[in-house]
Amino acid sequence: MRRILIVGNWKMNKTASEAAAFVRDLIKALPASPSVDFGIAPPFTALESVRAALGASAFIQLGAQNMFWEDQGAYTGEISAPMLRDLGCRFVILGHSERRTLFGEQDDAIHKKIRAALKHGLQAILCIGESLAQRERGTTDEVLTGQLQGGLGGFRAEELTTLSIAYEPVWAIGTGRAATVDQAIAAHCTIRRFLSATWTADVADRARILYGGSVTPENVEGLLKSDQIDGALIGGACLRIDSFVKIAAVAQ
Ligand code: PEP
Repeated sequence: MRRILIVGNWKMNKTASEAAAFVRDLIKALPASPSVDFGIAPPFTALESVRAALGASAFIQLGAQNMFWEDQGAYTGEISAPMLRDLGCRFVILGHSERRTLFGEQDDAIHKKIRAALKHGLQAILCIGESLAQRERGTTDEVLTGQLQGGLGGFRAEELTTLSIAYEPVWAIGTGRAATVDQAIAAHCTIRRFLSATWTADVADRARILYGGSVTPENVEGLLKSDQIDGALIGGACLRIDSFVKIAAVAQ
């Protein structure tokens, strides 16, 4: 049985002090849940202040939105997995569509990042998703399996036990136009079938597959009703305490 995972991707929002104040309010409003895992991914610059604000509230896991694959060295502007671990991060979001489209990240780079994350004990949340043009051309399944192969090809099944995947259709991110429940379920089934066929049924059963793309307190219930949808990766709606808490309440 997979536990539900609700993750907030703050993107490039909130200074370190704004983030700390937000988290102090969030932990007052968000009850711990026996059945749901929560994660928040603030910008790098706020990781330290958020860790301090979380204090002993270990039920919200701290994560990052990206990282580089080398441990250290002459890589100006980059952040490594050991640095994230040292700041208390438990997970890292990799391959987000904004990284792919705005910063030219390709599958081979994402693959190296996943390898580095796993080597250092960070849970990876691999984001995949098709563009609107790809969906309209009828190539969604091909795009998803291609991104899975590109990001995960060559890993051994036993390396993928903590893997989470976020299905995030590019056309749904930040647009207010979420995928329908049926579209999300179809994509999640494609992903799980591919994991089972390429690795093992166990890898497919264990992987948490989150939906992301304009999730709101209003649409999350329909999505989480399906046993194919193991949680949500949330952008805009996680920046408001009331919406994050409402989403969390639905997830219980
Ligand atoms: C995201 O960026 O991962 C995301 C899902 O954003 P939003 O919820 O704002 O669509």
